[in-house]
Amino acid sequence: MVFTVQPHREALGLKDGQLLVDGKFRGSGDGATWTHHHPATAEVVGQFAIATDEDVDDAVRSARRAFDEGPWPRYGAGKRVQVLRKYGDLLREHADELRGLQALDNGVPLSFGQIYGTSVAIAADIFDHHAGWIDKVGGETLPPYQGGDHLAMTFREPVGVVAAVLPWNAPFVLFAQKLAPALAAGCTVVVKPSEYASFCVIRMVELLIEAGLPDGVVNLVTGPGASTGSALINHPLVDKISFTGSRGVGKLVVEASAGTSKRVSLELGGKSPALVFADAPNVGLAAMTCMGMVTMGLSGQACVAHTRALVHRDVLDEFLASAEMLAGVVTFGNPFDPAVMASPLINQRQLDRVLGYIDKGQEEGARLVTGGKRLDGDFAEGNFVAPTIFADVRNDMTVAREEIFGPVLAVVPFDDEDEAVRIANDTEYGLGAGIYTTDTRRAFRVAKRVRAGMIGINGFQLEPHVPFGGFKQSGLGREGGRSAYEAYTELKTVMMPLTDELM
Ligand code: NAD
Repeated sequence: MVFTVQPHREALGLKDGQLLVDGKFRGSGDGATWTHHHPATAEVVGQFAIATDEDVDDAVRSARRAFDEGPWPRYGAGKRVQVLRKYGDLLREHADELRGLQALDNGVPLSFGQIYGTSVAIAADIFDHHAGWIDKVGGETLPPYQGGDHLAMTFREPVGVVAAVLPWNAPFVLFAQKLAPALAAGCTVVVKPSEYASFCVIRMVELLIEAGLPDGVVNLVTGPGASTGSALINHPLVDKISFTGSRGVGKLVVEASAGTSKRVSLELGGKSPALVFADAPNVGLAAMTCMGMVTMGLSGQACVAHTRALVHRDVLDEFLASAEMLAGVVTFGNPFDPAVMASPLINQRQLDRVLGYIDKGQEEGARLVTGGKRLDGDFAEGNFVAPTIFADVRNDMTVAREEIFGPVLAVVPFDDEDEAVRIANDTEYGLGAGIYTTDTRRAFRVAKRVRAGMIGINGFQLEPHVPFGGFKQSGLGREGGRSAYEAYTELKTVMMPLTDELM
C-alpha cells in the first residue's frame, strides 16, 4: 500500500458507531457489527452496529411515541426554528470534521467535499431554508361555494413518522434534504444511512441531539439495506418513506408502502443528457463540464451527472478533444491529499459493474476514446477506474441506456435540434439535462421539450431553495423548496357553519 488513511482516522478520533434509539446511543440487540473497508485502500476504517429487526422496531416505536405524545410536533414555530438554526450553525462549526469523516466513509476527496452542491455548507443552508418555512406555511380559508355562511379552512399538519433512507454518495446534502423539511414540519424521523457512508451520518445525528432535539424525535439505525433497511421501510408504524437510491430499491420502497398506504418520496437514478449545439458558447468548456461530472469528485457516482453527451456533428471533434484532455489530468490517490480530485468507486460490486459496462460498450461497437480500465500500480488496492469516454455511441447501446454510476461518458452525435430532443427523451429516466447554446429562444424551446426535472442552460448549480428531482423513473416528488416542506405535511380540511343553514 502506497498511501494510508489510518492517521486521519486517529486524528478524527473515529469511534465505533452506535444506534440512536429513544435518545440513547447503544449497540445492536445481538451485538452484530459491520466492518467498513476504505474504498481507496481496502484498509479497515471501523465498525458500526447492525440494527436487528427488533432494534428497528424499537426505533420506530420511539419515533411514534415522540410524534403522538411528545413535544416536538406541538412546539410553537419559534422553538422549532431555534433548534434547526442552531443545528445549521453546528454543522458549519464541524464542517472540517464531517468532511474528514466522509473521506473515511466513501473516499470523496477533501478537495471535492468543499464544492457547494454536496458540501456541509449546503446542508447547513438547507436547514436554514426549511426553518424559514415553519412560520410561513399554513392553510387557507376558502369562500363558501354555494353561498351561505360557513367557514371552510385547511390546515397543514406534520405527516407523522418518517423513515429516511440515504445512499452513500452525497450524505451531507441528502441527509439535509430529508431531515430538514421533516423536522421543520414537526415530524419525527428514523434515519438509515448507507452502510458505505455511515460514520459521517452518525456524527450529523449526534450534532442534532446537541442542537436540542427532544428524545425520540430522531432515531438512527445503521446496517445493510437488505436487513436493516427492509425492516424499516416495511414497518407498519411508519407514515412516510423518503428514499434516495437506486431505481431497483426504489421499486421495493413502493411495494413496501402499499400495505399501509405510506406516503413516499423517491429520488432515484438518472441517465441525463447534455445537448451540445454547434453554437454552444464554449464547446471545450461544455465538454470539460460533462467530463468533469463523470470524473471529478465522485467519479461519476452522481445521480445528476450528464452521462450522455449529445453533440452536434460539426463540433464533435472539438468536444472529444477537450473531454479527453480533461480525462488526462484527473488525479487519484489519498482523499486527504488536497491535490487529489477524484474518488474511487465505492466497493468491489460497483467496480465489477462499471468494468462490465465498459466491456459491453466495446462489444456493442462503441469506440473507446480513452480509459476503459482499472488503475493499477500505486492504485491497485483501491477501486479506481480510469476516466472513460465512448464515442460513436448509438442511443440504443447499453452504455447510453443504463445508469453506470462510474466515470464513463457516452458521446452520441446528432444533426439537428429535433433529433437531439428525440434522443434526449429516449430514456426511462428524467432527472436532469444540460443545454449548451447561445441561441436563447432555442435554449428555452429545448428546455420545454426535454422531459426532465432539472435543466441547466450553459451551466447548473444545486441550491437549497430550488426543487430537485426527476420525471419518469428518476423519482417521485421534489426535494428543496416549499413543495419539499409540504411533502412532509398532510392537508386537513375543517368546516364550520356559522348559522343553522348546513346543520
Ligand atoms: P442503493 O439503492 O443501493 O441504496 C440506497 C439505500 O437503500 C442504502 O441505505 C441501502 O442500504 C438501502 N437499501 C438497499 N437495499 C434495500 C432494501 N432491500 N430495503 C430497504 N433499503 C435498502 O443506492 P446506492 O448505491 O447507495 O446509491 C446509488 C444510487 O442512488 C444511484 O442509483 C443514484 O442515482 C441514486 N441517487 C439518486 C439521487 C437523487 O437525488 N435522485 C441522489 C443520490 C443518489
